[in-house]
Parts: sequence; C-alpha cells; structure tokens
Amino acid sequence: MMKDKKGLIVGVANEHSIAWGCAKALHAAGAEVALTYANDKTKTYSQALATEIKSPIFMSLDVTKPEQSTALFDEIKQRWGHIDFLLHAVAFAPKADLQGRFVDTSGEGFSQAMNISCHSLVRLAKAAEPLMTAGGSILTLSYYGSEKVISDYGLMGPVKAALEASVRYLAAELAPKNIRVNALSPGPVKTRAGSGLADFDKLLAKAADEAPLQQLVTIEQIGEVATYMMSDKSKHIIGQVIYVDNGYNIIG
Ligand code: NAD
Repeated sequence: MMKDKKGLIVGVANEHSIAWGCAKALHAAGAEVALTYANDKTKTYSQALATEIKSPIFMSLDVTKPEQSTALFDEIKQRWGHIDFLLHAVAFAPKADLQGRFVDTSGEGFSQAMNISCHSLVRLAKAAEPLMTAGGSILTLSYYGSEKVISDYGLMGPVKAALEASVRYLAAELAPKNIRVNALSPGPVKTRAGSGLADFDKLLAKAADEAPLQQLVTIEQIGEVATYMMSDKSKHIIGQVIYVDNGYNIIG
C-alpha cells in the first residue's frame, strides 16, 4: 500500500512508542521512513529501531530547536527531494504541572506543554509543506481528554483540544495543495509519555474494562490505522480526529 512512499516520523522514543508501531507498519507496507530522536538518551533506545526498518535518515530533532529542524529538512530535501507523509507523535508537560490540579498550572508549564505538544505540529507542517510537492498526509496523535474531563489528564486535556483545533485549521489551509491533516486518538497505551500521568494504570484498567471490545489497543493496531491514513486510500479524509480506542469514546 505504501510502495514508493517516503515520510518522516517524529516521536519514536523506544519500542513501546506509538510512533514505533506506526513506523513498523509503514515500513512493512513498503514505505521508506526517516526517524528522529529527541536527545542522546532516546537515541540509545531508538538507534537499533532505525536500523531494523532501514531508515535512510536518522537525525536529532528536539522540536524546541529550530536549527535541528532546518538541518533535518535540508537533509530530507537533499536525499529525497520530497516527502509523502509526516507523523507527529510528540507530547510533553512538566511533571509538576501535569500531576497537579489544572487550576494550579503555571504559565511557564502551560506554554512549554503547548509549544512542544501543539505548536510543534504547526512548525513541522510548515517545514513539510514545500516538500509535499505531490500532496501528502500529515497525522498527529491526540487523546479523548481533549473532549471530556479525564481524571489525572489535567493540563494535557486543553493542550490536546488546541492540537485538534490546529488540525482542522491546518487541514483547511493545506487541502488546496492536496496535503491532508488529521489526528488519531488512541485509547491509553503503556508508553513512557503515558507513564508520566498519575494513576495511569487505573486509566488502562478502566479502558480495558469499559471499552465495548473490552481490550486495550496495541501500537501495532494503531500502526495499521496510521498506514491507511498515510496511504492514498484515505485521501478524502480531511481534518478529522479518528478514534482508535476499541469504542471507549462511544460509552456515555
Ligand atoms: P512516547 O513517550 O513513546 O512518545 C512521546 C515522544 O515525544 C517521545 O519520542 C519523546 O522523545 C517526544 N518528545 C518529547 N519532547 C520532545 C521534544 N522537545 N522534541 C522532540 N520530541 C519530543 O509516548 P507515546 O504515548 O507514544 O506518545 C506519542 C503521542 O501519542 C503523544 O502525542 C501522546 O500524547 C499521544 N497519545 C498517547 C496515548 C497513550 O496512552 N500513551 C494515548 C493517546 C495519545
């Protein structure tokens, strides 16, 4: 389904990352995948993963460092000339702000979380736009806490709401260039980012118990949906937030 397609995936920290499930599935479907690492610590975990899927480009990208983004997109342009897809699977909030009450969130923590988890999508879309010469697909990762108040999700709820609104505005602006922008909203998955939430195990147990399918979603299953969203088969899906949560969000 992805033969001859090339794309960039930002957000593989280790083999548990949702982005890794997507990278594996896209590679298996025939795509060439460039990977990035946020810092030297994550590089030690993700280097072997880049080798496993034969990533021709494996570079550092801390989304708060514009010079790293410039170097990455220069390299992509030089090597490939264009890209077909971009996956943004990046989120961060300072622990003190994330685990406290939302009403106590500091301005600094709020700005940092918004910058890294939301505005980084806007920056990456801007950098990818001139390289998506034949159109393309941009996908990000959201969560149900954008829509409903989920206990212990706190600050990330409003941040994901802003991310989903950003998806719609980007999608409307980029559609005339045949670049589509969408989000997947998976149910909870045990990852490093997930484990930053207080009582994450409770959230996992509740999702497994209450989802109509009565199981948790895996990174491989999310990867299958991401592959479809990056493929030409989904080219008329624009500006959507697609739940991949075994039906949890339909339960009242
Ligand atoms: P993860 O920890 O594997 O991935 C988070 C990624 O964000 C890591 O690769 C980390 O390096 C990266 N990151 C953080 N700060 C960065 C920065 N300054 N520059 C570049 N990269 C940075 O966890 P995950 O759960 O796979 O998270 C991926 C996405 O999925 C996030 O947007 C998360 O909110 C979303 N999501 C997660 C769940 C879940 O339950 N785990 C559910 C729904 C949505």
